[in-house]
Amino acid sequence: MTVTENYSFFDSVIRSFDKAAKFTSWDLGILEQIKACNSVYRMKFPVRIGDNIEVIEAYRVQHSHHKTPCKGGIRFSMEVNQDEVMALAALMTYKCAIVNVPFGGAKGGIKIDPKKYTAFELEKITRRYTSELIKKNFIGPGTDVPAPDYGTGAREMAWILDTYVAMHPGEVDAAACVTGKPVSQGGVRGRTEATGLGVFFGIREVCNMASIMEGLGLTMGIAGKRVVVQGLGNVGYHCAKYFREHGAKVIAIAEWEGAVYNQDGLNEEDVFQHRKAKGTILNFPGGQNLALNTDALELDCDILIPAALENVINGQNAPRVKAKIIGEAANGPLTPEADEIFIAKGTLVVPDMYLNAGGVTVSYFEWLKNLSHVRYGRLEKRFTENMNKHILGQIENLTGKNVDAKERTFIEHGADEVDLVHSGLEETMVTATKEIMDVWKSNPGIPDMRTAAYVCAINKVATSYAELGIFP
Ligand code: GLU
Repeated sequence: MTVTENYSFFDSVIRSFDKAAKFTSWDLGILEQIKACNSVYRMKFPVRIGDNIEVIEAYRVQHSHHKTPCKGGIRFSMEVNQDEVMALAALMTYKCAIVNVPFGGAKGGIKIDPKKYTAFELEKITRRYTSELIKKNFIGPGTDVPAPDYGTGAREMAWILDTYVAMHPGEVDAAACVTGKPVSQGGVRGRTEATGLGVFFGIREVCNMASIMEGLGLTMGIAGKRVVVQGLGNVGYHCAKYFREHGAKVIAIAEWEGAVYNQDGLNEEDVFQHRKAKGTILNFPGGQNLALNTDALELDCDILIPAALENVINGQNAPRVKAKIIGEAANGPLTPEADEIFIAKGTLVVPDMYLNAGGVTVSYFEWLKNLSHVRYGRLEKRFTENMNKHILGQIENLTGKNVDAKERTFIEHGADEVDLVHSGLEETMVTATKEIMDVWKSNPGIPDMRTAAYVCAINKVATSYAELGIFP
């Protein structure tokens, strides 16, 4: 087994794709077209920072137009480069296909360390980047719809929206040009926690499969499982929260400066507040320090959730990883070498482009909300509540018994926006899990769940190309 790994992130996506393509019977030309990045836009633009002019490097890659608009986040990080953005855009195509979100994949990146700039400077950079996208028609409700990613959030999306709206006066669907917006700007309730909640739903589904859990030597269900989370950003925080709330023990949380450990379980909110106050995750009063953040990855645990950046588990450290299940909340946290090691060890790797699709799924709901110009639940909430009250009243009359106050509130409740978004996300993740597992079961030669997920994605994208007809 080689541990050289002298290839790029995009190469590793291609490798995983090629490995899966062998289990399909599509024309080579169609496979080549699916793999390729359709449009790569690299830009450099000047921004005045203090007394200086800084030349900022940025990208937007549209990987596939088999469905439009293209969709994918924008990251702010010093690691941003063309290869990384291409790889992430490709993963978006496969991700959207797997969860049946009708978009092509895209990704954007600005090569900056956001911590080094004031909010005003970040706003200038974000608005200038948006103007560059507008100039080349790389943003719009029907063309390409950005969203948050590593280093960005609702605030940056509001700046993008405002810049777009200013340059498209009167465009009635303008709010759908970006997702992950604040609710006051057309965002949807439930978007912030969506990726973390989707990860939880995905792992929960896998943990409820008797044959899989038996194979791993684990008991069924989430309760009691020992979980390690790497990364306490938006995704990691919400993963930890949902696992803890459903009875798992989050025994370690890692950040770039180190990690904290407690075998009885950590509370993510307490750890988050400690880090906010002290500027470091270390010395958390309710846990003990681990010197290196990477130590957390090698702890004895049932479920490991890498929720930060790519390539953190590779040919070097994979042999020391003890988790039975690895849930890829981040994009590309494992290298193909790590994949091979886990296949040999019998570790179940639940792949990124399915497991972290909660974000883009709820982005899709937000986009639909923006195009329909109405909040989810507005039409039916009151009707449902009145009907539930009526039915409950009838049952109580007929039986002569009354339910208690807590049950009454629960039964009578009509769905709010957040209820519908969470339920749509759950339905999406349950369906996607079943689709991937069906592909895996129907072809015993497929070595791992990532390959099964790729086969699923390739079949959907290729079908779309084939039915679309290729331009002569
Ligand atoms: N950045 C997220 C991802 O990698 C969300 C993308 C989106 O909502 O468009 O999936």
